[in-house]
Amino acid sequence: MDLGIAGRWALVCGASKGLGFGCAQALAREGVHVVLVARGVPALQQAVDTLKADAAVPKGTQVVQVAADITTAEGRAAVFAVRKDFDIVVTNAGGPPPGDFRDWDRDAWIKAVDANMLTPIELIKATVDGMVARGFGRIVNITSSAVKAPIDILGLSNGARSGLTGFVAGVARNRKLAGADVTINNLLPGAFDTDRLRGTMEGAVKKTGQTMEAVRAARMASIPAHRFGTPEEFGATCAFLCSRHASYITGQNVLIDGGAYPGTH
Ligand code: NAP
Repeated sequence: MDLGIAGRWALVCGASKGLGFGCAQALAREGVHVVLVARGVPALQQAVDTLKADAAVPKGTQVVQVAADITTAEGRAAVFAVRKDFDIVVTNAGGPPPGDFRDWDRDAWIKAVDANMLTPIELIKATVDGMVARGFGRIVNITSSAVKAPIDILGLSNGARSGLTGFVAGVARNRKLAGADVTINNLLPGAFDTDRLRGTMEGAVKKTGQTMEAVRAARMASIPAHRFGTPEEFGATCAFLCSRHASYITGQNVLIDGGAYPGTH
């Protein structure tokens, strides 16, 4: 299927690794010019080199890197100094740490809300009017399956991402946006095989004394698909939501979790 977005410009945040990289790769393979953002330069450089060497990325597709912390005003200014008129924006940053809610002070909450709620809102604010003026736009926020099925130790994430989810549910239905082929959707990952998931499982290894194999096997056994998702399949869904064909899909929370969530909606 031709997604009909070749030649468009995408901003992909948190793009040097994991799910963000999966999205950048899938978009670049559709001939979308991509601006990749992450803080660490070596991994970012490696991600850009990988895309530039990727035979599935059409010739002439531009791959640009911006080393910046997207959760800061300075970081976002650095991105928009490179380009302002993005057709596609994938918002993403690291998730807040797990813990006990009794230990989280105001600073911990502000940090989580800044990264996982206010940063996507700022990015939407900065790009959406240009999209409306040009008559095409796609915003995909990487959130979490925890928005639908909150996990107690991830309270900072549950809270901040739920705030974003509520905001998106309203703004996506703004008639000026939806009527101008500008869509905003959230993609909700379950368990995906990335550094973040591996880090979480290393924590479980230390805590329980089990082997990594045992922790992985137990986690996979809890998922009907009996495996973790891959960044490639996450990216493919993201690219579809950014496609011409997804024009009538907006304000949705799209769960990708191998069937782990047990409910009907
Ligand atoms: P990952 O493998 O750790 O990759 C995170 C990417 O984001 C890296 O490129 C990282 O690079 C970048 N990043 C982090 N903080 C950033 C910041 N402030 N500014 C710019 N870039 C930043 O994580 P992932 O598994 O892909 O997860 C992506 C998101 O999905 C996270 O919010 C995570 O909580 C959520 N999620 C993941 C899973 C899962 O199973 N993987 C499940 C549910 C939710 P630098 O560190 O160099 O900046």
